[in-house]
Amino acid sequence: MKLKRLIIQGFKSFKDRTIIQFEEGITGIVGPNGCGKSNIVDALFWVMGEQSAKHLRGASMKDVIFAGSSKYNPGAWAEVSLILGNEAGKHIHIGQKVCNPTEIQLTRKLYRNGESEYKINNTQSRLRDIQEVFMDTGAGSKSYSIIAQGEINRLVQAKPEERRTIIEEVAGITKFKARKKESLRKIDQTHSNIARLNDLKNEIEKNLRSLKSQAERAEKAKSLKEKIKKNDLVTNSHKVYDLLTKLKQGKGSVSQKKLDLAERIEERESIELALEEEKIVKDEGIQKIESLQDDFNRDSKELASDESKLQGFYKIR
Ligand code: ATP
Repeated sequence: MKLKRLIIQGFKSFKDRTIIQFEEGITGIVGPNGCGKSNIVDALFWVMGEQSAKHLRGASMKDVIFAGSSKYNPGAWAEVSLILGNEAGKHIHIGQKVCNPTEIQLTRKLYRNGESEYKINNTQSRLRDIQEVFMDTGAGSKSYSIIAQGEINRLVQAKPEERRTIIEEVAGITKFKARKKESLRKIDQTHSNIARLNDLKNEIEKNLRSLKSQAERAEKAKSLKEKIKKNDLVTNSHKVYDLLTKLKQGKGSVSQKKLDLAERIEERESIELALEEEKIVKDEGIQKIESLQDDFNRDSKELASDESKLQGFYKIR
């Protein structure tokens, strides 16, 4: 993996877009004191993912944004892109994909409001993906392939553990160590997931037991309901049978009563007829009695007149 180009804009003293081309062999940057040579190295650190403002010789990360000058206003953002040649065909993450492009362009941008962006080949990426590009390469913001001013002393005086880190990085086992760390973290997570799953399993089993007894009770209730329904059916059919029998009997007694009524009506009619006839006979008798009375009265009158006539006759004599 080779450095091809570094594009700096708005970063520290580089107000304008500046392209630094790295040709084959050694590239030397010369210039007067304070012209910005170390700022180029800072730009390299920064685009590789450096997170320490102190390591970039600033108090806060925003110090990397062009601070302005007597002629120019401060910049709103700083952006650095590093173009690497991927001759070895290293596989890297770009977004969700894993691929091995021939050129890798890493971009980091920081806005004055603190918002920052990482991109690989113009695709939004994570800082982790950028750091992964340098794993096993011996390069990187934390590597010793870039030695800043005053760092030689620190390297010479490094503790054995720090030296070990350097050797591991150069030997290319950092990636495996990182993977081991990640795997151990995943194992830990899996263990806690298993523990959680066991808790869940216990909880589910507990719920299952209570659900089972609920289901048994529901089943019992269901069969009891069915029994009640069956018994209701039998009772109702008996009731219907009784009612039908009573209805039949009632119908029989109604027709008997109808017959009796018809007989009574007939009897009444015949009695009424007899009464009518008797009345006629009685009326005829009364008429007869009345005419007899009339006859009697007339005869009595005649007799009385005859008697008076007779008495007159005797007096005369
Ligand atoms: P030396 O040879 O003395 O080590 P150098 O060439 O490495 O110097 P640098 O340290 O890279 O110089 O640059 C320092 C310059 O960068 C200073 O002039 C400083 O004002 C300027 N500088 C640093 N940060 C910013 C910033 N945020 N905005 C504008 N200019 C900045």
